[in-house]
Amino acid sequence: MTSTKPPVLWLNVAIFALTFLVAVVATPLYGYFVGFDGAQWLMLLIAFSFCGMSITAGYHRLWSHKTYEANAVVRFIFAIGGAFALQNSILHWSSDHRIHHRYVDNNDKDPYSAKMGFFYSHIGWMLREYQASRYSDYSNCRDLQKDKIVMWQHKFYVPLAILTNIGIPLLFGFVHGDIWGALLLVGVVRLVLSHHTTFFINSLAHIWGSQPYTEKNTARDNGLLAFLTFGEGYHNFHHIFENDYRNGIRWWQFDPTKWLIKSLSWVGATKNLRISPEDRIEKAKARMLHNRVQKKLMTNLASQSTELKLARLDEEYEQLLQKIADYYDAKKRLLELKKKKLLKHYESFEFLQQYKAMKQRLEEQQRSWHQLTAQYV
Ligand SMILES: [Zn+2]
Ligand SMILES: [Zn+2]
Repeated sequence: MTSTKPPVLWLNVAIFALTFLVAVVATPLYGYFVGFDGAQWLMLLIAFSFCGMSITAGYHRLWSHKTYEANAVVRFIFAIGGAFALQNSILHWSSDHRIHHRYVDNNDKDPYSAKMGFFYSHIGWMLREYQASRYSDYSNCRDLQKDKIVMWQHKFYVPLAILTNIGIPLLFGFVHGDIWGALLLVGVVRLVLSHHTTFFINSLAHIWGSQPYTEKNTARDNGLLAFLTFGEGYHNFHHIFENDYRNGIRWWQFDPTKWLIKSLSWVGATKNLRISPEDRIEKAKARMLHNRVQKKLMTNLASQSTELKLARLDEEYEQLLQKIADYYDAKKRLLELKKKKLLKHYESFEFLQQYKAMKQRLEEQQRSWHQLTAQYV
């Protein structure tokens, strides 16, 4: 059997290889012989964050998934930051990404399928013309084609990318007084860091971490990756609840992209932030744990006690689902009544008592569920 690989994209190979070499060889040498100061390191951090968040908050959560709406100023800033990050245009990136979600792990369709291995999903998919047949097919992004900023950035992507990647470091170097240092640190090191941390989401976030919500695809939750990727490391959650503007849903989970989008909503720059219903999130987690424990118990079917254990598991699971449904129904009703100001004093007291009792019953059930499942996983 012979397989011919598609032709190499030499421009991409050259960009990735040269920037990487300059970042790991030339820059440390320059640092050793000339040195960098605090202002340069700070500018590296600012430029890296600008690129990173333009991709995560802009390309990813705004344009690819439409998890919220943003005004023209915010969209313009993300469009510039995305060109600076050198990850192709918004339109192209979003088109690829929507295919990734729709056909995740399908080696024939997912542009960066994790099943093709670490190297391919990280960078390999961009080094050859794997996507040639559908390179300019943006039919899955018709909505984005109505956004003037998206189309403007798409049309002028190359000049914008060159202008930002050379112009921003050059301008900083000129003001600060060390042009070569700025080109190395803010130009090249920033680009390499920005590239590879984003690429980790396609590679490592599909290989390394936990799967609390679903095992139907390879996506993982990984707090360390979230730290490197402005919150995108909670990728298992993201692949099941892709319309949620958050990736790390708990307050303690590191998700600066979520914090940025939320803060911008306070000043009216973003709106209609979408979140997934809490009961669906809880149910997904319970289902995952149920299936995992069930699978584990099934490996020991010879034991007599296994059947009893399986029955107990199912029973506890059903009860948990019921209590989740009861509590969140009550919560929804309470919010509706509060909104309409329909609660009369005596009614509200009674209803609140019921609501509190349901909450307590759910918490008790959750405790017993965790005790039961903790023995097995
Ligand atoms: Zn996504
Ligand atoms: Zn993914």
